[in-house]
Amino acid sequence: LLMDTLVRVTDLSRRFGSQQALSDVNLCLDRGEVLGLLGPNGAGKTTCLRILSGMLAPSRGRIEIQGIDLARKPLQAKRHLGYLPERPPLHPELRVDEYLTFCARIHRLPSRRIPESVAEAKRRCGLENSGQRLIAKLSKGFRQRLGIAQAILHRPKLLILDEPTEGLDPFQMRELRALIRSLAEECGVILSSHLLGEVQAVCDRAVIMHQGRVRFDARLQPSSQCSQWRIRLTPTS
Ligand code: ATP
Repeated sequence: LLMDTLVRVTDLSRRFGSQQALSDVNLCLDRGEVLGLLGPNGAGKTTCLRILSGMLAPSRGRIEIQGIDLARKPLQAKRHLGYLPERPPLHPELRVDEYLTFCARIHRLPSRRIPESVAEAKRRCGLENSGQRLIAKLSKGFRQRLGIAQAILHRPKLLILDEPTEGLDPFQMRELRALIRSLAEECGVILSSHLLGEVQAVCDRAVIMHQGRVRFDARLQPSSQCSQWRIRLTPTS
């Protein structure tokens, strides 16, 4: 069972001055699972995802990705994760291929592998015909796909998506959700959302946060990805 655990978060807390943004958060994610973090504004979702991605240090607690301690071996652990922040720093003046090539260098992919990695990430995100398009001219849906493409360039085992469908129209949302499901065939995904229906449609597990704490952690029945929403509580261990 241990071999199946991709992410283990233990007693994670983070303070900003007197503000307790996260308190004793525990989470587990198995390989191939999609976990949805739900909660109102200020619940702590972004803080949790920033810590998981190694962008922000926790005040307390431990994160293991593929059994690697993120605090102790950050470079090694980060190799296994891809991150789409809430507002990804896209460069509107670049073309899609230029931007992805630039990101591949930041990921420190070897030069000879970059064209192949860029092509693969575009293919997986449905951007194969968009290489020469200017980012400034892309729709919000395509921009999110590009944000995801940069996050998977190095083929991470864990993909972290901060409110990936925020601001998309219903059609773009549906496309992005389908993309997330297809990516989940190859890696674990943790995403945040305000929308219960979205988490029910896309995720295998739902975690509800409120005021920095996990209030609810449930595995969703596969049937919930169709039309019937049924939630079975998993025993907390
Ligand atoms: P949203 O849905 O609005 O993105 P969230 O669930 O992602 O909300 P967080 O952004 O993680 O919530 O915020 C959790 C709490 O921590 C909030 O009270 C917020 O004000 C506080 N907080 C987050 N980042 C910082 C920061 N850099 N400095 C001070 N306080 C912060």
